[in-house]
Amino acid sequence: MKNNKKIMLLAGDGVGPEVVNETTRIIKWFEDNLNLSFDLDEGLVGGASYDKFGVPLTDETLSDAMSADAILFGSVGGPQYDKVSFDKRPENGLLKLRKEMDLFANLRPAMVFPALANSSTLKREIVSGLDILIVRELTGGIYFAEPRGIEDLSNGEKKGFDTNLYTTREIERIGRVAFDLAKFRNKKVTSVEKSNVMMSGVLWKEVMSSLYQNEGKEISLNHMYADNCAMQLVRDPKQFDVIVTDNLFGDILSDTSAMLTGSLGMLPSASLGSKDAITGKRYAMYEPVHGSAPDIAGKGIVNPVAQILSFSMLLRYSFELNKEAELLEKAISLALDEGYRTKDLASKDEKVVGTSEMTDVIINKMTEINDK
Ligand code: NAD
Repeated sequence: MKNNKKIMLLAGDGVGPEVVNETTRIIKWFEDNLNLSFDLDEGLVGGASYDKFGVPLTDETLSDAMSADAILFGSVGGPQYDKVSFDKRPENGLLKLRKEMDLFANLRPAMVFPALANSSTLKREIVSGLDILIVRELTGGIYFAEPRGIEDLSNGEKKGFDTNLYTTREIERIGRVAFDLAKFRNKKVTSVEKSNVMMSGVLWKEVMSSLYQNEGKEISLNHMYADNCAMQLVRDPKQFDVIVTDNLFGDILSDTSAMLTGSLGMLPSASLGSKDAITGKRYAMYEPVHGSAPDIAGKGIVNPVAQILSFSMLLRYSFELNKEAELLEKAISLALDEGYRTKDLASKDEKVVGTSEMTDVIINKMTEINDK
């Protein structure tokens, strides 16, 4: 089956181009071996765009990115841009992409490959084989809602305040993303709020429940208070499949779940927009959680797996190529089982491989699995 989907590659700065380049080798393997076909487009973002055009994202690159079916983003930033004016900083290229495409759903999976279970601070049996997904609302809630501020009080003190505000529509659209994604996974959604003490939480729970009545046919839904969820994530994280929650709780719970996995070089993420009611198109950008790692850029030692796993998320969530994503993840797992480690993952006696060598091994494993 031919599948001409357009992927926009925005490699960015520092290690970004290195890990995106490795990922294009994986993409080529899929084209050569599984009769898939992708149209790859490339653009500059971040410092790389600033150096050439004086801005971190040009209108043309933005428009190319918006016309793609999915964006594979590397990373942006570096110390050489510290003195650039705030609006032209590399990070603004990323923020502009998120804003223009209204990427309100942030997806952070926490996967623990069995071979790396000892890297976690939790006991091996608690995390080995873990595969959960946190869906965090990213553009609303307490980080954005008004009123907010710091004001003087008549007694000489000050008061600082924020507002946690969610509308029905905002809750429905993030709930819909979580329900849709759960259909490609283990079909279980946990909605997290604090409806025991917060009115925004009461509405959150009500809206999730009625969305479930109307659109939750293939999945199960349970509700959990955020404080309990934090506890459960470190007590028994494998009880979860998809967790959907607001901006504030998602910020905290996704960092907690990241720590279950051990290394920054292994963590992918995705940011999604709404599905267009007519065309069915959904803006989507996939990127590693890590930054441009200027301290190791250009040395050929960066771990490419976070970027490669971001591509695996792209296959699964933008193109519904589940089997292909599984094959890629299995290949990574086998490479780790056989002891291949980039520097960030290796403990004292383990053999260290470079960035390209790690990709070579993953590619060989994909071929082995495919030939069976
Ligand atoms: P970082 O994630 O770039 O690096 C933190 C540490 O982890 C460094 O020691 C780095 O060498 C290491 N590391 C990160 N990814 C790795 C990988 N794949 N393999 C091996 N080691 C890895 O964070 P930082 O140092 O705080 O930020 C560096 C720059 O990146 C800054 O300019 C920052 O603004 C930017 N940044 C960009 C993004 C993004 O593009 N989404 C995210 C975070 C930070």
